[in-house]
Amino acid sequence: MKALDQLTFDNRFASLGDAFSTQVLPDPIADPRLVVASESAMGLLDLDPAQAQLPLFAELFSGHKLWEEADPRAMVYSGHQFGSYNPRLGDGRGLLLAEVRNERGEHWDLHLKGAGQTPYSRMGDGRAVLRSSIREFLASEALHALGIPSSRALCVIGSSTTVWRETRESAAMLTRLAPSHVRFGHFEYFYYTKQPEQQRVLIDHVLAEHYPECRDAEQPYLAMFRTIVERNAELIAYWQAYGFCHGVMNTDNMSILGITFDFGPFAFLDDFNANFICNHSDDRGRYSYANQVPIAHWNLSALAQALTTVIEVEALKQTLELFLPLYQAHYLDLMRRRLGLTSAEDEDMALVERLLQRMQSGGVDYTLFFRRLGEQPVADALQLLRDDFIDLAGFDAWAADYLARCQREADNATGRRERMHAVNPLYILRNYLAQRAIEAAEAGDYSEVRRLHQVLTRPFEEQAGMQAYAERPPEWGKHLEISCSS
Ligand code: AMP
Ligand code: MG
Repeated sequence: MKALDQLTFDNRFASLGDAFSTQVLPDPIADPRLVVASESAMGLLDLDPAQAQLPLFAELFSGHKLWEEADPRAMVYSGHQFGSYNPRLGDGRGLLLAEVRNERGEHWDLHLKGAGQTPYSRMGDGRAVLRSSIREFLASEALHALGIPSSRALCVIGSSTTVWRETRESAAMLTRLAPSHVRFGHFEYFYYTKQPEQQRVLIDHVLAEHYPECRDAEQPYLAMFRTIVERNAELIAYWQAYGFCHGVMNTDNMSILGITFDFGPFAFLDDFNANFICNHSDDRGRYSYANQVPIAHWNLSALAQALTTVIEVEALKQTLELFLPLYQAHYLDLMRRRLGLTSAEDEDMALVERLLQRMQSGGVDYTLFFRRLGEQPVADALQLLRDDFIDLAGFDAWAADYLARCQREADNATGRRERMHAVNPLYILRNYLAQRAIEAAEAGDYSEVRRLHQVLTRPFEEQAGMQAYAERPPEWGKHLEISCSS
């Protein structure tokens, strides 16, 4: 375990030079104080968890101090926002501080969000508010604990600095960890600004550092694009299977690694609703829950367009066609597991779809349904769940088919509860839980953020005294308007 001054740095992206990022020093926030830190994220840097309690920790992650070996930089990128191309985005309030190499040889970007203005800030103040920093922290760590690929969050540092959004709010900084902060939008930037040499440098960097296994393929760039398509198909399958709505799937928010990235007005579904829109500025529902699948494909097409400089169009098109079938296979696999099924039958997708339709018409809690379905014996579990549905005859028909389906599996009942509870969380990051923790934090009490974070690090295990975190949301908590300003 290391102390903060014992980290090993290796700033590979920074070494690509000024065409890719601009050196900017973080602009500190006043009176830094630790709001919350993730012990498991600290572990990725080999950091001793006790280091989070030191004043130096809050100073480093609020811009007051900087390692000598750090090389803080704002990255340049562009991207498609709500379908329209925006030629110049970039880190407007984030800085890639440094890359840390841990003892396992892994590289982790240290990225400070809310670090002040950069050449890419446009009209923004370069800050992040406490509310959105806490939301991103909790979501990254909760997704990771669910087994869903995501950027990680090291800590949130609060401050007495205030910023103006719809109202006056406190500023904070979030430190994000990821093996890379390169987005689809990075490739688009060099494509649309017609800088093929620089684009090639970027592609080779990503290939060498993040897709080394593709280098030996006959066409390394195509192999890399194919892997990106595969990873996105798997990622979106996870989102759909677990009811995660990203909310702002612009191409600048899509990681080149296929991990969940850049959290805005995200939400986990409470009641199942395929048309759910978590982003209140998304009037047309471009990024609704159900649209995440076609939008991911759209985003991959935008990336493919940018890669036409190095890969033949026909090969890109064929590779893009893999997305949907790959997604469907992953999704079905995850849903079979959520239903406790261990074998495959042709009608399984129909069984899933029929269930979701009934859940939607009944306003059934998406997470708790699967959790409770895992109780034994299954017939009793179904009987208890029945009360949540409005169309009882519809539910009974489904339940009879499901029961018969389970009975066709010779050993379905063996280890069923453990098997299902291991994939069906009891605790998810419901918006109202985050909201309660944020309100306490805004009043200076960080204990609720820390407790919620702890609960969410073990989402599949029933935790003593934490029943309140596993309840359906109260009425006020179901329709929270999550502000997009952050
Ligand atoms: P986001 O909505 O966080 O994905 O950000 C979209 C773009 O706006 C990125 O280029 C951000 O860096 C930039 N941005 C968002 N908020 C701010 C802010 N408060 N100050 C400066 N730039 C910002
Ligand atoms: Mg973004």
